[in-house]
Amino acid sequence: MNLILFGPPAAGKGTQAKRLVETRGMVQLSTGDMLRAAIAEGSELGLKVKAVLDRGDLVTDEIVIALIEARLPEAEAAGGAIFDGFPRTVAQAEALDAMLAGRGARIDSVLRLKVDEEALKARITKRFEEQGRADDNPEVFVTRLDAYNRQTAPLLPYYQAQGKLEELDGMGSVEQVSREIDTALEGVTA
Ligand code: AMP
Repeated sequence: MNLILFGPPAAGKGTQAKRLVETRGMVQLSTGDMLRAAIAEGSELGLKVKAVLDRGDLVTDEIVIALIEARLPEAEAAGGAIFDGFPRTVAQAEALDAMLAGRGARIDSVLRLKVDEEALKARITKRFEEQGRADDNPEVFVTRLDAYNRQTAPLLPYYQAQGKLEELDGMGSVEQVSREIDTALEGVTA
């Protein structure tokens, strides 16, 4: 099964993806984690993208599409991927559909975690205090939310038109959201 966890930054995608890795043995493909790892390693890619992440803007489609493509065989071997933070633009979604089709696979479900902006801001303030991730600071977070609203939210009609979009309430506790996801996945035939 190939699943997209969809939502704005701090909606809980990473937390839920990690749980699904544990409970279902799927592979989490988080482009944000991959980019942060590249920055931490000081690789050529890391040096190229650091300023973009620090500003809260999106890196180019080419970069993230290549990162995902390189990991698809591993996800396929594990029985499926949880895409977390990818795709974030319509071009990325189209590329993902094409890459999966080329492998005889597809996206089976897109689970949208709906969280209102005030709650997101409260979560991010807490995460910034606890983890100190530079792009969680309040000013950069405004840019990240803006990128979501302008570039990523247009994916909702894209997946709606494919009949794959399922809207979930992301405002509850981690356990409540986990239960909603499990219930939604019961209805998905991969
Ligand atoms: P995340 O951890 O998913 O919030 O991603 C952190 C940052 O990495 C984002 O603010 C972007 O700068 C970059 N990034 C992650 N995924 C993507 C993507 N699919 N497309 C473009 N930029 C991305």
